[in-house]
Amino acid sequence: MKLKGKSLCGLKKVAIKEHLDEIQLIVCKPKFICGKCARVAAHSGNLCRARKLTV
Ligand SMILES: [Zn+2]
Repeated sequence: MKLKGKSLCGLKKVAIKEHLDEIQLIVCKPKFICGKCARVAAHSGNLCRARKLTV
């Protein structure tokens, strides 16, 4: 499974465990935060309600 374009918000716990390396790449330099779940990601497509990080 590739996480590109998929929302981190909807990942199941088992999927997080399985794809932790790939998830680290998505969250290590975040540009967006999810306004609903508070997750962060480098690409808005990985969040269900992406908002730009402003700080
Ligand atoms: Zn979300």
